[in-house]
Amino acid sequence: MNEQNGNYKDKTMLVVLAHPDDESFGMGGTLAYYADKGVNIHYLCGTRGESGTLDADCLDGFDSVGERRESELMCAADVLGLSSVSFLGFRDSGMLGSPDNDHPNALVAQPVDKVAERITHFIRRIKPDIIVTHDPVGGYHHPDHIAIHKATVKAFHAAADPNMYQNGLEPHQPQRLYYGVFPRRLFRVLVWALKVIGRDPSKFGRNQDINLEMLAKDPDYPQHVKINYTKYKERKAKADACHESQLDLGSQGSGIFFWLREKLIPGTDGYMQAYPEIPANAHMKDLFEGLQ
Ligand SMILES: [Zn+2]
Repeated sequence: MNEQNGNYKDKTMLVVLAHPDDESFGMGGTLAYYADKGVNIHYLCGTRGESGTLDADCLDGFDSVGERRESELMCAADVLGLSSVSFLGFRDSGMLGSPDNDHPNALVAQPVDKVAERITHFIRRIKPDIIVTHDPVGGYHHPDHIAIHKATVKAFHAAADPNMYQNGLEPHQPQRLYYGVFPRRLFRVLVWALKVIGRDPSKFGRNQDINLEMLAKDPDYPQHVKINYTKYKERKAKADACHESQLDLGSQGSGIFFWLREKLIPGTDGYMQAYPEIPANAHMKDLFEGLQ
């Protein structure tokens, strides 16, 4: 399918990510771009972000962190033009080694089959053409992102297999599976920049639990599709702003990462086509290119 003769209005995209805000901070530009073309975009979110650290005043009017973050996600979904938001119903596990990892409902404490089964049922219900999820290292080694990645890969294949996770719904094979990916160059430059200003790149982020030196050494995943969302930057910024409790624009947190991302790869999101496999150097203009 190309932009001239394709009909995006017939297309359905399922986005499976771990937390409220992953849809906006990571790929909000892409989602606004496709929503505007008429693609039906459904967001299946693993958790309600219960372990996010919030300033006390962010809880005014809310009973819990999860409730606040769910309302932020609904705001962002509205701005981006998503067709629906659903939750898998697990609990945010926080970063590796945090006490939240051990909560009985923590996403990382679940067998992959249990998570994959819920995703499979959702796939059979909405019958997406394509699925987008986290990459194998979960972007920055967040355990919930990695758990969602593994379960989504399993569900992508299981949904078409009538013997897997039976639930009375017809099997459905989505045509493509994509991972949202960041170029390693971004992390390498950030490591360099932090060292120049005398900061420790192995203790990055609001909770100092992101090791950028390790991230910079991860494999560079192929970027088969690059989406230029320049026209939708304002809409992405509005969606980001919905996640007010998670915005961290100071130099201690993610602000410097997003600033650098905009300098190095302005208005661009990268995607690897995981299934069907294609050569690492293949390039396509569009996530839906060639689909019937
Ligand atoms: Zn996340």
